[in-house]
Amino acid sequence: MAQEVRGVIAPGKDEPVRIETIVVPDPGPGEAVVKIQACGVCHTDLHYKQGGISDDFPFLLGHEAAGVVESVGAGVTDVAPGDFVILNWRAVCGKCRACLRGRPWYCFDTHNAEQRMTVAATGQELSPALGIGAFAEKTLVAAGQCTKVDPAVSAEVAGLLGCGVMAGIGAAINTGNVGRGDTVAVIGCGGVGDAAIAGSYLAGASKVIAVDIDDRKLETARSMGATHTVNSRENDPVEAIRELTGGFGADVVIEAVGRPETYRQAFYARDLAGTVVLVGVPTPEMKLELPLLDVFGRGGSLKSSWYGDCLPSRDFSMLIDLHLQGRLDLGKFVTETIQLDQVEQAFDRMHAGDVLRSVVVL
Ligand SMILES: [Zn+2]
Ligand SMILES: [Zn+2]
Repeated sequence: MAQEVRGVIAPGKDEPVRIETIVVPDPGPGEAVVKIQACGVCHTDLHYKQGGISDDFPFLLGHEAAGVVESVGAGVTDVAPGDFVILNWRAVCGKCRACLRGRPWYCFDTHNAEQRMTVAATGQELSPALGIGAFAEKTLVAAGQCTKVDPAVSAEVAGLLGCGVMAGIGAAINTGNVGRGDTVAVIGCGGVGDAAIAGSYLAGASKVIAVDIDDRKLETARSMGATHTVNSRENDPVEAIRELTGGFGADVVIEAVGRPETYRQAFYARDLAGTVVLVGVPTPEMKLELPLLDVFGRGGSLKSSWYGDCLPSRDFSMLIDLHLQGRLDLGKFVTETIQLDQVEQAFDRMHAGDVLRSVVVL
């Protein structure tokens, strides 16, 4: 039977979020209902609220979540009620040309639940953020969005792998292919940039140079594994990165801002034949201008990282295991835990740069 639970919705462009009673249908074929235990507050939730992603209000916010599967629909075999899972926003189809060529992390046809959750009072259909909608006691997703991991990990830590932390770690270890001895620079030290630093450290980079305009963020970056920091408001980051790498530039530069000027810095701060990874998300009006001769002459590769080019079934459990072994401290990403009715204030603190991640605990 459909259930009524509390959820945080964004009712309209730039309106404050509020708690509403929402209706969660029983899972249909290929779907699952998940009882949410924790969900991180991400910039993307704020973008939804601001109308920066689409106009499909009302949104059910929240997408960096972990919880326990409550029920599954027909044909679901990969997860079962009682499983502790991390939710992902790219359920792989297994049938598209990327999947069929053995590259499911690029899946070109990812999917979400087919049924819609609704607002109890009005019957309005909700648009769940990134197809998840997890600032709610329960949510409905496609079963492929659930990845089972070791339940020994705390939910507030596990949920963060569902988005920003995975995007950053994956930008380093999957897209950038950072390996032992590589020099790495990371431009932009928010949650994703810090995760790229942690991923580079994990992969054995010899130097990890953190670049940001905020000294507080650079300090956090050091705790994540940065060996050097550059305040790009005070210093030219390209020169500083070259200086720190014998005059050459870094082997891998990860751009975690998503702006033309920081991309240009990343482009020129890498060594010849080095790699630039763009994991910061630009907006539609942004344009990039670079001398084509430099693109050719400097060689190497210019890559974009979608969700850290992750494959949840491979990467989530591996990273949780490393965390439980004490080799990757994912707990550092959690600044504070909050209640469901404190999301609006968490947006303010995030906007002010006071927190890395606030995590709603249910
Ligand atoms: Zn596919
Ligand atoms: Zn996110």
